[in-house]
Parts: sequence; structure tokens; C-alpha cells
Amino acid sequence: MEVPILMYHSIGRAAQSRKYKRFDVPPDVFADQLDGLVAAGMQTITAGQMLAAVKSGKADDIPDRAVVLTFDDAFADFESAALPALLERRMVATVFVPTAFIGRRASWLDDIGEGYRRHMAGSQLRAVRAAGIECGAHSHSHPQLDRLGSPCELADEIRRPRCILEDLLNEPVTTFAYPFGYHSGAVRRAVANSGYVGAFRVDNVRSRPLDDDLFALPRMTVTPRLNASNIISAIERRRTVVSDGYATSKRHGWRWARTVLGPAPELMVEIDEWLGVTDAAGSPR
Ligand SMILES: [Zn+2]
Repeated sequence: MEVPILMYHSIGRAAQSRKYKRFDVPPDVFADQLDGLVAAGMQTITAGQMLAAVKSGKADDIPDRAVVLTFDDAFADFESAALPALLERRMVATVFVPTAFIGRRASWLDDIGEGYRRHMAGSQLRAVRAAGIECGAHSHSHPQLDRLGSPCELADEIRRPRCILEDLLNEPVTTFAYPFGYHSGAVRRAVANSGYVGAFRVDNVRSRPLDDDLFALPRMTVTPRLNASNIISAIERRRTVVSDGYATSKRHGWRWARTVLGPAPELMVEIDEWLGVTDAAGSPR
């Protein structure tokens, strides 16, 4: 069984930096992508629902055409732009929250000129949850977890968001997404030992929840360049030995590059470039 897990960040067109434009999916492109999923008969489930089915031996309950939509960073535009489009199509999703920034601006993005972005406040997260959206953890302060020096700091970044979200939402929080997708054996073990059921990395392949490490499930990056039809091509592309081997070598390569060059956020091969598609609007970004 393979389940595509898609990764979004922001739904809007506010990006100031060129670097961030690929993470800003305009609302009309987002609507087109969702319509493409609907037309292809895809059925959304949350990350937590998928993991719960696998853990309870009920993987057969996962629909054949299941897709998991995830949104990293819990920006305020999730509530204002993404949620209405999802509800209109009776879709669900999972939002991953860096809890230090609840109700605050994204100061962690100051260095690329995107620090003006607002993260959802506690009341917005509660409203989103009440609308059927799952809230998972995305560390506390959005560091590169695989490069933290101290085990205490790592434990704090992993456990604290779960406590904060469980207090806020009054329910168990079971899912975790690695900031920037960066993880290591020590990071995965720390997440597994902190009460989560599964965790998500970034690699442009479909997940195999029955066979993959549940603490390193791959997600595909969705960019503004994907339209209704090529998002389906991306989803339907089967995993191969080549794609798995490429993903592993890329991860190791980037860890080495960050050691030499210092922090290099969001360095990842884009699925649209990988597929060779052009901008959905036909203009260069
Ligand atoms: Zn993030």
C-alpha cells in the first residue's frame, strides 16, 4: 500500500523573497490542485487517521485512493485561505505547529525577509481543530533538530510542543513533522520515545505506511507550479529502487553540505523540477 502525503506551507501570494515563492501556493492554484484530487477520486484522511489505522492493524480501512494533505508552520493563511477551500470540498488535513510561535509573527524567517508572516493564534488553532483539521507538532522553535548539540535541548524541542498542543486542544497529539525535513537516528528515536505515533520527513516519493519507518514517512513538496493534472502525475508515480536510493543519498548529501556551509533551510529538490513541469500560470517564478 502506498499513500501520497503532500506538504504545503502557505496558501497566498505574499512571498517577498524569491526563495519563498515556491512555498506560497496562490489560492486559485490551490483550488485547482484540490479539484484535480477530487476529479481523480482521491479521498483525504489526516496523518493521525492514517497512523491510527496502521497501528491498530486496520490498514484495510485506509481508502484505496487516500491522500494526506499536510501544512507546515501553521500560518494564519491556513485558516483564512486553505480551510475554506478544504471545507468546500469536504476535505481534511493536518497542520504542523511550531508552538513557540503560536499567535506570533515568523521571526524565524527574518533572514529571508518573510518574518512578517503570522502564525495562527491559540483560538484559531482551536477553531481549525473544531472544523475537523488535525493539529500535529512541528518542534517548539523550528530548529534543525539533527544539529542540536544537547540531548536536553532536543528532548525539549520534541516534548514541549506536544504538551502545549494537548493543553490547548484537550486531546492527544500523535504526529510530528521535522522542521525543514531534517532528522537523524537520534532525532527519530527521541520523537518515538516522546509519545508520538509517527513523524514526517520530506522526500518526493509516496509513503508506504506498512513498510516504512513510521518516524520517517516521506512527504512530497507541493509548489505553485503543479496544476490539477500534474499533481496527479506526481502522486501516481510509483516508488522505485532508484527513487528510494536517490532520496537517501540526497538526505546524506544535504547533511554534509549543512556541516560545511552552515544552516541552509529548505534545500530540497522540487517535485515540479523533478517532473519537468512548468509554472501553472505559464510564467517563470
Ligand atoms: Zn516548518
